[in-house]
Amino acid sequence: MYTEKVLDHFNNPRNLGEIEGANGIGMVGNAKCGDIMQMFIKVNDDGIIEDVGFKTFGCGAAIATSSMATEMIKGKKVEDALKLSNSAVVEALEGLPPQKIHCSVLAEEAVKAAVEDYEKRKAEKQA
Ligand SMILES: [Zn+2]
Repeated sequence: MYTEKVLDHFNNPRNLGEIEGANGIGMVGNAKCGDIMQMFIKVNDDGIIEDVGFKTFGCGAAIATSSMATEMIKGKKVEDALKLSNSAVVEALEGLPPQKIHCSVLAEEAVKAAVEDYEKRKAEKQA
């Protein structure tokens, strides 16, 4: 049912846990499997995501997609992180069962929520 990549990220999640000095935190959830995903990003002055972490309370697919999403945005510019789509994450995991696609949507939303939080904080600092 799950590809080896999915199982690998589920068994050995990358960037698991809260990070120190996060300046963007996003939390999203879905009602379908009750997944809750929290994404932490630390963006430096150049707008690069230096560090990223996640906490996911949810199904295996949600954990695997959030793990993969953190790997895909680490070291990237925030603008590029916003372009991360759930289908790119699914592709990187070499596929997900159709009934689990909504879990990958959550990963995309969590990244966007974290970036939005970062931008809001930045705007507040400048105001
Ligand atoms: Zn799920």
